[in-house]
Amino acid sequence: MPTESPEALLRRHGMQVTAQRLAVLRAASERPHSTADDIDKVVRAELGAISRQAVYDALAALSEKGLLRRIQPAGSPARYEDRVGDNHHHLICRNCGRMGDVDCAVGETPCLIAADDSGYEIDEAEVIYWGRCPECLAAATTSSSSQGAGTRGEHRRA
Ligand SMILES: [Zn+2]
Ligand SMILES: [Zn+2]
Ligand SMILES: [Zn+2]
Repeated sequence: MPTESPEALLRRHGMQVTAQRLAVLRAASERPHSTADDIDKVVRAELGAISRQAVYDALAALSEKGLLRRIQPAGSPARYEDRVGDNHHHLICRNCGRMGDVDCAVGETPCLIAADDSGYEIDEAEVIYWGRCPECLAAATTSSSSQGAGTRGEHRRA
């Protein structure tokens, strides 16, 4: 990925360079897959005098211009990241909500080749793999071994 300064990135997308936008971009870059709330906390800790609405507006504007990618998993708040334009996919843990990146196949994007595209020109496939992260899996294994093995799926700790 070519490294471009955030200022240059904003200008290239025809956006005014503001302290808010720079702080939001930096927060999303340092903590990929953050929620708007997370980013709001980071940015306000850094800039102080900024309203929640201004942070949300900056997020919306940056997503609309394609500088940030907004991921909206079912049943969870939207997350933001600055890794855009590479059609990568996501892993989400059903248990703790942790999210990770998964590259699409290198060199090709098989998920963009639909069996039947119905005449659409497809440019993106939103793929989310749901499951359990290694930590939750390990925790489930250790806790279920004490109360009998074989419990899978809906095994939640209160
Ligand atoms: Zn987990
Ligand atoms: Zn991602
Ligand atoms: Zn793919």
